[in-house]
Amino acid sequence: MRRTIYGEDHEAFRDSVRQFVIRSVAPRAEEFIERRLIDREVWREAGRQGLLGLEVPEEYDGAAAGDYRFNAVLIEELAGVGMALASSFGIHFDVVAPYLVDLTTDEQKKRWLPPFCSGELITAIGMTEPGGGSDLAALRTTAVRDGSDWIIDGSKTFITNGYQAGLVVVAARTSPEKRAKGITLFAVEEGMPGFHRGRKLDKIGQPEADTAELFFEGVRVPAANVIGEVDRGFVAMMERLPQERLGSAVTNLAHAAAVLAETLSYVKERRAFGQAIGSFQYNKFTLADLVTKVEVTRAYVDQCVAAHAAGELTAVDAAKAKMWTAEVQNQVIDACVQLHGGYGYMKEYRVARAWADARVTRIWAGSNEIMREIVGRDLGL
Ligand SMILES: Cc1cc2nc3c(=O)[nH]c(=O)nc-3n(C[C@H](O)[C@H](O)[C@H](O)COP(=O)(O)OP(=O)(O)OC[C@H]3O[C@@H](n4cnc5c(N)ncnc54)[C@H](O)[C@@H]3O)c2cc1C
Repeated sequence: MRRTIYGEDHEAFRDSVRQFVIRSVAPRAEEFIERRLIDREVWREAGRQGLLGLEVPEEYDGAAAGDYRFNAVLIEELAGVGMALASSFGIHFDVVAPYLVDLTTDEQKKRWLPPFCSGELITAIGMTEPGGGSDLAALRTTAVRDGSDWIIDGSKTFITNGYQAGLVVVAARTSPEKRAKGITLFAVEEGMPGFHRGRKLDKIGQPEADTAELFFEGVRVPAANVIGEVDRGFVAMMERLPQERLGSAVTNLAHAAAVLAETLSYVKERRAFGQAIGSFQYNKFTLADLVTKVEVTRAYVDQCVAAHAAGELTAVDAAKAKMWTAEVQNQVIDACVQLHGGYGYMKEYRVARAWADARVTRIWAGSNEIMREIVGRDLGL
C-alpha cells in the first residue's frame, strides 16, 4: 500500500541515510557483532552526515528538522540493518535529544549539543535500576544537595550506550518523601569522580549494542548539570516517553519488515519435494498473513508518526503502537525462523540473530504489560 505521510524531502533524506548505512555500517556489521561494540568512528561518520542532530537547533550544529518524520525515516533505515544499530543511535538522537534540547539552559546547550551532533559525545539515559524499571516513581538513586552541588549515590542497569556514553541523563531522587514529584534529572559526565561503569552486559541478542550497569558513589554534580527543574524529572520523562515508544514502534516494524523481505526471497529459492518451499499452500498462507500484519500495522504506526509530527500523539496511542509492533515483530520473525528451517537456528543467518535481537522489544521502553496498563486505564478500567 502506498504510504502517504512522507514527501520528497523525506525520501531524499532516506536515500542519504541508506548511503550512510551501505558505506559505513553494512561492511562492518559482522566486526561490530564480534567486538560487541559499534565503533565510535561510525558515530562520527553519522555526525558528519548530519544524522545525529535532527532535533537540535542550527546554532548548536544541528539540522533543526522540526519534523518527526525525519526521525522516523532515520530509524527505519537503521532498523533495516539491525536492531542494535537502531536502538543505540535511537537512544541518542531520538530519546536523549529532546531532554537536551527542550530542558537545558543556553550554557548547557553550548557545552553539550555541538559534540552531541558530531558524534564526539555519545549519550545515554539512566532510568532503570537493579531494583526495578517498571515502577519508575520508586527509583532509589539519590541526589542530595551540598552547597550548590548535588551528591549522587546509587546505580542503574541495562543502560543502552552506557559503556561508551560521555554523558548520561540520570534520574535521581531529590525529595525522598515525594515519590514521583521528588525526582530530578542530572547530566552525569564521563570522568566525574565516583562515576563507574560495571560490566558490559552479556545479552541474548543485539551483542553489538553496548548495554551497561552504571554506579554512582558520591558523585559530585554541579548545579550547572541539573537538567530541567528540580523535582520535575518524572514529569519530564512522562512527557517524553511517548516519543521513545513511537521510536520503538517504528524500529520494531522496520526490523520485522526487513527480515520478512529477506525471508520472502529465501522461500522462493529454497526447494523441497521439487518445488519452492514458499509455494506450499501452508507457507503461502503464512506469508500472506505476515505481510498483511506488517502492512496493517504500518498504517497505524504511520498515523502515529504523522500525529506526533503535528504534536498530537497521545501517550495512550504511543503505548498501543509500542506494544502492538513488539508483538507483531516477534510473531513475524519467529515465523521467518521457521520458514528458514534449520538455517533459521544458525547464528550466521541474519534471521536467527534477528529473532534474538527482537525478543527484548516486549520488555524495554516500558514492558508490554505496562503498555497494556496504560491502554486499559484509558478505558476507564
Ligand atoms: C537491552 C536492554 C536495554 C535497555 N536500555 C535501557 C536504557 O537505555 N535506559 C533505561 O533506563 N532502561 C533501559 N532498559 C530497561 C528496561 O526499560 C526495563 O528492563 C523495563 O522497563 C522493565 O523493567 P525491569 O527489567 O526492572 O522489570 P520489572 O519492572 O521487574 O518487571 C518484571 C516483569 O513484571 C511485569 N510487571 C511489572 N509491573 C507490572 C504491572 N503493574 N502489571 C503487570 N506486569 C507488571 C513486567 O512487565 C515484567 O514482565 C533496557 C533493558 C534492556 C533489556
